Amino acid sequence: MSSIYTGPVFEMARNQFTHVADYLEIPEGKRDRLLYPKRAIAISCPINLDNGETAVFQGYRVQHHLTLGPTKGGTRFAPSVDIGEVSALAIWMSWKCALAGLPYGGAKGGITVDPHSLSIRELENLSRRYMQEMIPFVGPHVDVMAPDMGTNEQVMAWFMDTYSMYQGRTVSEIVTGKPVSSGGTEGRREATGLGVAHLIARAMQRLQMNPAGATAIIQGFGNVGSYAALELAQQGIRIIGVSDHTACYFDPNGFDVNTLLAYAGKHGSLKGYSTEALFDPDQLLVQACDILVPAAIERVIDADVAAKLKCRILAEAANGPTTPEADAVLDQRRREIFIIPDILCNSGGVIVSYFEWVQDLQQLFWRRTEVLNRLRDLLDNAFERVMVRVEKDAISHRVAAMAIGVDKVAQAKATRGLFP
Ligand code: GLU
Repeated sequence: MSSIYTGPVFEMARNQFTHVADYLEIPEGKRDRLLYPKRAIAISCPINLDNGETAVFQGYRVQHHLTLGPTKGGTRFAPSVDIGEVSALAIWMSWKCALAGLPYGGAKGGITVDPHSLSIRELENLSRRYMQEMIPFVGPHVDVMAPDMGTNEQVMAWFMDTYSMYQGRTVSEIVTGKPVSSGGTEGRREATGLGVAHLIARAMQRLQMNPAGATAIIQGFGNVGSYAALELAQQGIRIIGVSDHTACYFDPNGFDVNTLLAYAGKHGSLKGYSTEALFDPDQLLVQACDILVPAAIERVIDADVAAKLKCRILAEAANGPTTPEADAVLDQRRREIFIIPDILCNSGGVIVSYFEWVQDLQQLFWRRTEVLNRLRDLLDNAFERVMVRVEKDAISHRVAAMAIGVDKVAQAKATRGLFP
């Protein structure tokens, strides 16, 4: 089938899907209905810049399937954003939500922009304009946005406010990942990183590894990477390598994560944190460590990097960090490297987003311990189901995780039938 969805990231999502569909023996005729997004919205967002000129930014939202409920997923502000990337990320959200047992289809949106190039005022104008253009296509029971790379709680608050102003009432359930002061939930900010660390602890138990003395390398120090690092350090794991888009550091003695966090909080990035520990970012992923956590962008582990990895656990905190070519290599190294695939590894974020949406709909708010207990419960359940499937069919962790998600959506589509 020819479509508007092209590019390396979409091809990656398609390739993975074909692999899983072969394993599940889904007939050719039923595959396009599962893979191709239901809706894709492309918009132009004009805003007034501080210098008095007008600039137009391209924005997108892809809603993958509407079979299980509203669609759900983040909004990315990054120069790489295009319809191919956004559609792949939406498709992955579908398998992620289905694996975690959430009543959602996947969605993703974004604007092609470097948010660091904008002033706060310009960022607010762009965020509000994006939501305003999306009003006809979203809603608390249609499509619920959240943060992703380049967006944060403040952007979500602007989204919520813009939508609410047009409705003439506060509609906090239109987005998740909001500040707690504006209807957000306890625990959402750190949920993805906490989930990553929780699943790493599960994997270590299974592999009979001791956290004391274990080492970890984290690529990416945004919301996900920083909280994952903090939580791993609290488990007694030494963080020996860390990077963001501005700097890369390596020190076998380990870093103090609280100091790193305080520095990044104050300066906006890790740039200038140290001169002694500066390291080549191209070499970071292939250093020897117990746990490798790619927590930045897609496709950083290709076949070449995969062959050189020297970790015991690969915890995919980013979406799509490992290419299908790398997967083929890692399949051969299955006994050496234990993969926690992205749609499982980073699902803590959308799980707590779901809790936020439920609380907003009910206007009944939970304590932090309740949020985190429920989070751990859903993560443990998904982890166990993946492990059972891996052992039953001798398949890779990625195929097992995706198969559970794809199967759930396929069954829902089959039982609902085709209308009319
Ligand atoms: N952007 C995050 C993800 O990729 C979170 C999505 C959400 O909370 O809805 O999973």
